[in-house]
Amino acid sequence: MSYSFWHTKRSETKEYDICVIGGGISGCSTAYWLKKEDPSLKIAVIEKGEIAAGATGRNAGFVTSGSVEHFNRLVTLHGKDKAYEIWKFSEDNLALIKQEFGDQEAEIDFVQNGTFSLASDNREMGELNETAKLMSSFDIPVEVLNEGDIEKRLNAKNFVGGIKYETDAEVNPVKLTQKMVDSSGVDFFPHHEVDSYEEGADGVTIFTQHTTFKCEMLVLATNAYLPLLSSYFDDKIFATKGQILVTEPIEKCMEAPCYAHFVLDYFRQLPTGHLLIGGFRQLEKETQVGYSDHTSQVIQDALADFIGKHLPKFKDLKIINRWGGIMGFSSDGQVFVGSMPGNSRVFFLGGFTAHGIGLAFHTGKALVDLIYGRPVPDFISARRFN
Ligand SMILES: Cc1cc2nc3c(=O)[nH]c(=O)nc-3n(C[C@H](O)[C@H](O)[C@H](O)COP(=O)(O)OP(=O)(O)OC[C@H]3O[C@@H](n4cnc5c(N)ncnc54)[C@H](O)[C@@H]3O)c2cc1C
Repeated sequence: MSYSFWHTKRSETKEYDICVIGGGISGCSTAYWLKKEDPSLKIAVIEKGEIAAGATGRNAGFVTSGSVEHFNRLVTLHGKDKAYEIWKFSEDNLALIKQEFGDQEAEIDFVQNGTFSLASDNREMGELNETAKLMSSFDIPVEVLNEGDIEKRLNAKNFVGGIKYETDAEVNPVKLTQKMVDSSGVDFFPHHEVDSYEEGADGVTIFTQHTTFKCEMLVLATNAYLPLLSSYFDDKIFATKGQILVTEPIEKCMEAPCYAHFVLDYFRQLPTGHLLIGGFRQLEKETQVGYSDHTSQVIQDALADFIGKHLPKFKDLKIINRWGGIMGFSSDGQVFVGSMPGNSRVFFLGGFTAHGIGLAFHTGKALVDLIYGRPVPDFISARRFN
């Protein structure tokens, strides 16, 4: 967003050591780890809406390991060792969440009971079997299921089989993000949309409609919205819409959250009993790309059909909520941390490619490593784009 001369009145200037633009999980994670690194730092998180207004407050809350594809495809793409390194990075994300907030699990609705990946045809089941074999070779706990197991444990039909990642978890993503802010003592500025920033020799100046922020260092954590702040990101991150619907609550009927159809579709039962169904972004590739979070008939119909086909017991449940959210997909499917070209004071992270809850807490920590001159893994360094 830009502000006209007539509407702009910057009457106030605030000074900070570090400002973070973006109050989603990646911005709040970075602020959290920065404050942990040096409690004396004065840190501001500047957010255009409320906390977790973007994808972070609009997702399904799966805390899954891995990336946007089945592990066997990660191995084909990167080789076994690197695929494991990528996997391990997300496993460590979960371990870090438990380390920092494990004593407050109930407050953030954190449950670690695994997640399922279900195959609706034999081709996908072949890939899941291969995935299970590869994962076992790394001692990653995984269970293979048949059609009957799935019906019994998940009340789901028309899947030929699946696998269970035993160590995955689920969470309320808004409560988790709020917890990071509350427990770190950073200053959070909701409803402050950044119009632009300028980097000078003595620091960075950030402009919102009514407030100017001055700081020594800036972190850009707006993920899908990064290209709106700098054209540097035009070829690195792509806005992609995801949609969800939620039904009225019912008694507990599912063991744990599930992915289906090559991780494109997903469903889970929330602790409140509501069923959440999401996915089908593949149906509207062209029109779904952009920054509008409106829902569309074609995808909402597909989500309802999914219930009819795979969760037929629940097909008559009332749908009580529908929404969309904008994700940032990186050009190679992996996250990135870096600084702007030159000897810049502007750092960034992003590219969570539909897996920010499973990746961003660790990525924020890695960005703090980069800021403090410590090494970060090659596969998350933005240098790979140079
Ligand atoms: C429907 C859906 C389902 C998903 N399901 C899962 C899941 O189950 N598990 C999982 O791991 N991931 C999931 N994801 C992906 C996950 O939500 C994202 O990867 C993650 O939230 C990214 O976090 P972020 O903080 O980087 O971005 P965001 O949460 O988008 O945060 C960016 C923030 O920047 C703010 N902002 C943007 N521009 C400005 C500006 N100019 N000034 C100030 N503030 C600005 C935005 O308002 C926003 O709050 C899903 C996403 C969607 C949409």
